[in-house]
Amino acid sequence: MTLIADLTEVLGPAHVLTGTDRAGHIGDWTGKYTADPVAVVRPANTAEVAACLRIVASHGVAVVPISGRTGLVGGAMTRGGLMISVERMNKIREIRPEARIAVVEAGVILDRLHAAAEAEGLYFPLWFGARGSAMIGGVLSTNAGGSNVLRYGSTRALCLGLEVVLADGQVLNLMSELHKDNSGYDLRNLFIGAEGTLGIITAAVMKLVPRPKAYATATLAARSLPDALVLLNRLREATGGAVEAFEYMPESYMRRLAEARPDIRQPFTPRQAVNILVEIGATAPRDAVPNAAGEVPVTLLLQEVLAEMMEEGAVLDAEIAQSEGQRRAMWERRELAAEITFARTPAIDTDVALPVDKVDAFLRRMAARLPLLDPGAEDLCVAHLGDGNVHYTVFPTLDDAGLYDRVVEAVEDEVQALRGSFSAEHGVGLSKRASMARRKDPVALAVMRSVKAALDPDNRMNPGKIIPDLT
Ligand SMILES: Cc1cc2nc3c(=O)[nH]c(=O)nc-3n(C[C@H](O)[C@H](O)[C@H](O)COP(=O)(O)OP(=O)(O)OC[C@H]3O[C@@H](n4cnc5c(N)ncnc54)[C@H](O)[C@@H]3O)c2cc1C
Repeated sequence: MTLIADLTEVLGPAHVLTGTDRAGHIGDWTGKYTADPVAVVRPANTAEVAACLRIVASHGVAVVPISGRTGLVGGAMTRGGLMISVERMNKIREIRPEARIAVVEAGVILDRLHAAAEAEGLYFPLWFGARGSAMIGGVLSTNAGGSNVLRYGSTRALCLGLEVVLADGQVLNLMSELHKDNSGYDLRNLFIGAEGTLGIITAAVMKLVPRPKAYATATLAARSLPDALVLLNRLREATGGAVEAFEYMPESYMRRLAEARPDIRQPFTPRQAVNILVEIGATAPRDAVPNAAGEVPVTLLLQEVLAEMMEEGAVLDAEIAQSEGQRRAMWERRELAAEITFARTPAIDTDVALPVDKVDAFLRRMAARLPLLDPGAEDLCVAHLGDGNVHYTVFPTLDDAGLYDRVVEAVEDEVQALRGSFSAEHGVGLSKRASMARRKDPVALAVMRSVKAALDPDNRMNPGKIIPDLT
């Protein structure tokens, strides 16, 4: 029998998409890549995923797992392979508030988990612009970060257990609900961030946290990035570590935002060089419940620290959200970053991690270096400053592959010199394969090859991603 006939027998014709029926699954959010899979299949459960993988193995075809397809590095791409979408595996199987866990299937959209946790008075603290489309399988496979990493860590820190279907169709049950389990190698963490190259994640046990009962949110102008870091550390100490987000938007970002969305109010006139969006989440009633005058203690605390730093000249101006509407408006400015970055072509987008106190040095070095590479180029930066993750984009004057490589290598040089990473939260996919070859420690790459060979000896799971020389 043919591959398609075998798959159809297991899944039914409605869930084996070929030809034009694949259209809704083959593009990617950045518009840079288009997949051409032999088919897109939509299994309903783990057993069907396992059956698909066994069929694929017998036909010697490659497999690319897909979830919400919001990835920004071309990870969910194939030419001629089979795409396995987990979109129908979308049950929230269980929420246990006392244990602070949610047992979910891989196709659950992030926002649905947010709503389900909220209904229990809890919070699932993975938060970023694509939360309305990204799914649990995808966020685990990219170890997604977002705005709250400062307080809660990346997806890896939020996961207790996993179920994974391996290349040969075996189901690996790691659905632990335990916070401690030192029984051998940490297999769970091997699959998190593996971008579908080692197996297909079908379900997970995720941690929930207390839901902040009040937020204190402000947009402020700092005198410099080092001053902004002083503010961050003071707020962390004053709040006992309750700063949830600390986002940096330089003047150039605010200018582009004004051009793209003139309807959105700018925080400061004239525009300021260092704009920070800060948010503190208060879970304890003593910080969250308004006093007799209607003032929320956590907001008063933020006001106090900002006033102190204004007195010192380190904070130049600030506005504090007085309502949920104002808070949402502040976040809208920040969350338009991906749209603004990818709206213009040609663009050279990067996603780098630096020690938090080296972000300023990195940006200064690039400001000096970029004009030497392309005198007319413009840059755009936005950063999760609280965890050192900088999205640095260059708009070159020419759409030229050589120039593209020179700019990326310059970014990598500076990042490496400052002991950072060329890949912070989006993953490697297709777009950072060359960087893996150039910058990853050769011994680490050799270990990765061994792991890959042990779990996927025929190189069928999302080939060509992560490990640069395996196509
Ligand atoms: C507007 C916007 C804002 C964003 N902001 C952020 C941000 O702040 N922080 C951040 O980290 N990312 C951000 N991203 C990137 C993106 O949302 C994340 O990478 C997300 O984790 C991808 O999830 P997904 O469900 O869309 O996965 P997909 O794009 O479908 O897949 C991503 C990768 O995971 C693999 N994969 C998918 N499902 C599975 C599975 N079940 N098992 C094994 N492998 C699988 C795919 O093969 C692919 O390699 C943003 C994207 C957009 C469009």
